[in-house]
Amino acid sequence: MPERTFKSLAELLYWSYANLQMVDAACNMGKDTYDRTCYMIRSKAYKAYCEGRWKISDLYKQQIEKLQQSNHACAYCGKVFLSPKEATIDHIFPRIKGGSNEMENIVFACKTCNSSKGDKDMFGWYIDHFNTFPSIYLTANYLKKIYMYAQDNNLLNEELSTLDTLDLPFDWHCIPKKYPVPKHFQK
Ligand SMILES: [Zn+2]
Repeated sequence: MPERTFKSLAELLYWSYANLQMVDAACNMGKDTYDRTCYMIRSKAYKAYCEGRWKISDLYKQQIEKLQQSNHACAYCGKVFLSPKEATIDHIFPRIKGGSNEMENIVFACKTCNSSKGDKDMFGWYIDHFNTFPSIYLTANYLKKIYMYAQDNNLLNEELSTLDTLDLPFDWHCIPKKYPVPKHFQK
């Protein structure tokens, strides 16, 4: 199959999110590989997002709050903090690239992850650093974060090539177009 192309950032985000929903559904159904049902879930979701019937931003606030409440362990590697001193504050969108100081841009990370991530794109860094994908949960949150940023800055309908000329707190090239088989993911 030829590589799918996307006209706008919104389309790419919808596709990535619909794929993630397929992974999530497959995991919940205990499937090791994707079958017809899974692909139907994906196409239904993609269509609903493109037509504006479903919104990626739904439940964003609750989910990000849940992510922050898990302040006993690193949001990236999962290392449990033995003392509060081991926890550092990580800006999901780097400060230097315009990431805000507000709670919704902040998670707790261990020093190793925080300094290794630096001002890199979270997806790009994570996949490079751990040689695997972030959890479904972390991925969903990051996609939502990009979506909300794009919405606030009128970037959703931008062509992807235009985004290369802008200084953004994320790298659209790192947005996954597909995810590994379900058994790869741990919840
Ligand atoms: Zn860590």
